[in-house]
Amino acid sequence: MATVVVKLGSSIVADERGEFRDDVIRHVCTEVARRHRTGDELVLVTSGAIARGMRLLGLDGRPQAMDELQAASAVGQGTLYRSYDELFAEHGIRAAQVLLTYYDMSARTHYLNARNTLRRLLDWRVVPVINENDTTTTDEISFGDNDFLAAQVAILVGADRLVLLTEVDGLFTADPRRDPGAELVREVRDFAELERHDITTSTSSLGSGGMRSKVVAAEMATAAGIPAVIANGTRREAVSAALAGEPVGTRFLPQEGRQMSSFKLWLKYAKPTAGRVLVDDGAARALRERGTSLLPVGIVGVRGRFEAGDAVEIRAASGNGTPIGKGIVNYSSEELERIKGKKTAEVRELIPHASEEAVHRDYFVLD
Ligand code: GLU
Repeated sequence: MATVVVKLGSSIVADERGEFRDDVIRHVCTEVARRHRTGDELVLVTSGAIARGMRLLGLDGRPQAMDELQAASAVGQGTLYRSYDELFAEHGIRAAQVLLTYYDMSARTHYLNARNTLRRLLDWRVVPVINENDTTTTDEISFGDNDFLAAQVAILVGADRLVLLTEVDGLFTADPRRDPGAELVREVRDFAELERHDITTSTSSLGSGGMRSKVVAAEMATAAGIPAVIANGTRREAVSAALAGEPVGTRFLPQEGRQMSSFKLWLKYAKPTAGRVLVDDGAARALRERGTSLLPVGIVGVRGRFEAGDAVEIRAASGNGTPIGKGIVNYSSEELERIKGKKTAEVRELIPHASEEAVHRDYFVLD
C-alpha cells in the first residue's frame, strides 16, 4: 500500500476560458479510483478555484488585484469541489473538502490538527480534496499554483510519492514551445545540476506556478525523502504510470543528507518577500555565525511596507547592503520603524505585548 499525493494545476483543471476540463479530470479521478481500489491511500491537491470563479463571474482575464483573486477563488471553490465529489461518487468513493494554508501549517498545533484530520480521513478510506484557503492567505496565488502546498501535504501525511500533474510532459532543458531542441529531463538526482539547465519560468494565464515552483516543490518533497514526479495530466497513460510509480515525465529522486526542514525550504524558495530590513554589523554576525534570532535593537533601517507574518529580506546596512537571509517578521513595517534600535524593555513600553524577536531564528533562513 502506498500513500500518493496528486496535484492538479489550474491549466489542466480548467481551460483558458475557465471551463472545467471534464475529460481530463474525469480520467484523473478514474485513475485515482483505480489506485484506491488496490488499497493505496490517495490525496488530491487541486487548483482551479480562481479559474472557475473567473468563468462563473464572467471575467475576461485573470484579475490583477489580490482581493479580486481571493474573491474569485471563493466563488469558484464550491463548484470545483462539487465536481470532484460527484466524480468520485460515481466510483463509490467518498471525498472530503480540506482548505489549508501553508502558514497555518507552520504553527505546531495547526500542523498536528491538519495531520490528524487527514490521517483520520485516509483511515476512513476517504479521498481528501485539498486547496489553499485563498480567503486568508495569498501565498499560492502570488506564486505557486498549489505546488508548495502539495509538497507540504506530502510531507504532512508521510506520502510515498508526490505527483505533480501539469500540461507539459515534464521538465525540459529549454522551453519546448519555443525551442525545438528542448529535451525532456527524465531524472533529477541533484538540484545543483539543474542550474546548468534552463528551467522554463513561463506560467499559464490561469495559474501562478510554472515550472519553477514545481521544481522547488519537488526539491522540498525529495529533501524530506519523498520521490516526486512532474507528468502530463492530459495524457492518459502518463497519469496511470505516474500514479503507479512507473517511470514517466521527470522523476526527482529522494535526496540524502539534507538538513533543511520543509518549512525553511518553503520560506527560502517559495514565500515572496514584502520588504527589507537592514541590520547593524553585530546583528549581521550573530545571524550568520551564531544562528540567533534578530532583535529590534540590531535593526537600523526598514524598507517597503509589510505586515507581521510577511517575509522580509534581511541585509547588512554596511558593505553595500550584502544580503544575509530571509525571515518572517513579527512586526509590521510601521511598528519596526518605531522600535528599531531599541532594547527589549523600551520596545515593551511602546508595544506592551511585543515579542522579543523581530524575526525568530525558527522563521529565518540564511541566503
Ligand atoms: N488556490 C488557487 C486556486 O485554486 C491556486 C491557483 C493559482 O495560483 O492561481 O485557484
